Amino acid sequence: MRKPKIVVLGAGYGGLMTVTRLQKSLGVNEADIVLVNKNDYHYETTWLHEASAGTLSPDRVRYPVSDVIDKNKVDFVQDSVVEIKTDENTVILENGQADYDYLVVALGGESETFGIKGLKEHAFTISNVNTSRQLREHIEYQFATYHNEEEKKDERLTIVVGGAGFTGIEFLGELTNRVPELCKEFDVDYHKVRIICVEAAPMVLPGFDPELVTYAVSVLEKKGVEFKIGTAIKEATPEGIIVGKGEDEVEEIKAGTVVWAAGVRGNSVIEKSGIEAMRGRVKVDPNLRVPGHENIFVIGDSSLVINEEINRPYPPTAQIAMQQGVTVAKNLSALIRHQEGLESFVFDNKGTVCSLGEDDAIGVVFGKKVKGAKASFMKKMVDNRALFMVGGVGLTLKKGKFKFF
Ligand code: FAD
Ligand code: NAD
Repeated sequence: MRKPKIVVLGAGYGGLMTVTRLQKSLGVNEADIVLVNKNDYHYETTWLHEASAGTLSPDRVRYPVSDVIDKNKVDFVQDSVVEIKTDENTVILENGQADYDYLVVALGGESETFGIKGLKEHAFTISNVNTSRQLREHIEYQFATYHNEEEKKDERLTIVVGGAGFTGIEFLGELTNRVPELCKEFDVDYHKVRIICVEAAPMVLPGFDPELVTYAVSVLEKKGVEFKIGTAIKEATPEGIIVGKGEDEVEEIKAGTVVWAAGVRGNSVIEKSGIEAMRGRVKVDPNLRVPGHENIFVIGDSSLVINEEINRPYPPTAQIAMQQGVTVAKNLSALIRHQEGLESFVFDNKGTVCSLGEDDAIGVVFGKKVKGAKASFMKKMVDNRALFMVGGVGLTLKKGKFKFF
């Protein structure tokens, strides 16, 4: 009898969690499992701010997919997904196609520029290992060039970060630790460096605990960050950015580096495939399936799950993507075994920890506020836990963070 074929797209948090759970729960004769990913490695998206600032090598944030999959049960295909043909149960890849009986879309998110002029051309994003490497090397190039040029352009040493959400703040935490090192390495006067954070909302980390936000802002200001709150990036240009407060107040900030960390959307493959979505995110049913397509699950940053308590979508996080992976693996096993009743997804929010560099952080964990060294310790434990959940003790020992103090 032909075995049902499960195809999982994306080897990020959601995809790897699904596959590693499926390979544990299903026998070799029960299903064919195929995992498709652009690269032959997984990267820890939640560590990319470190690779971008240069406080962690890009190689530290990634590991081969082969480290965590059971090759007897899972076929790995390194390829890029171009489009899903839902009516034909097939996925078009750059170099072939993958037919499926069940599909799990876990392709992650993309940077959302909201159509702001010049951002795509002139700003850097923190999206994957390669954008992170490019950003880190661009900053180093600016420092090296400044030192060597005869007529010094001080704006080379200005770094603007657009968005004071968690990505922007975590990147600033790393950057402010890295800048003194860069100044030493490249013989640059520290006082010439400007780090500016531009946030459209009236506060940093909108919606987060105000006391912890005040702590984070004071830590970062002490390390030299200038915050421009209630100020939106309106345009990026080859020279820097144009920002605005309301309609009338417009200012140009000249900067050698502009980082856009002001939002994410779902993967564009979703819209290209004609699947109904809001900014590339599919409002999935309680079992995490696409309404009208009972054999397609969407998880992670490309999915949208409503928090019924406040009637707003849960923010896209690795935490939710991994929990969705567990539910999808259970539901797929049940479908393959023709068992009744699929599990509804219920998000178990364990909290949020936001790093402020290697040795400082803020967070709310199981409802309790934490800050400083204790929060930083917790952040590393959260990072290690994600490794453990996917790859067990072996992967945690290989890639984990154990420098606690
Ligand atoms: P991802 O983990 O991003 O994986 C998507 C995978 O799909 C990647 O391997 C990618 O290469 C692959 N892919 C993409 N397109 C294609 C294609 N066309 N073809 C083939 N393969 C493709 N969340 C937290 O919970 N806690 C944190 O501390 C935290 N910190 C963060 C820090 C930073 C700097 C950033 C940017 C995000 C952070 N997040 C955090 C959010 C979290 O990283 C994302 O929500 C999470 O990565 C989403 O998981 P995912 O499985 O949907 O996608
Ligand atoms: P975000 O959407 O959470 O924050 C973007 C910020 O940019 C917002 O504060 C917004 O007001 C601001 N903004 C939007 N347009 C702007 C403009 N034109 N000019 C200036 N500011 C503008 O995005 P993010 O920080 O990239 O986070 C993405 C997701 O990843 C979120 O769900 C977040 O919770 C998650 N994440 C979590 C952690 C963590 O748990 N430690 C770390 C990073 C990201």
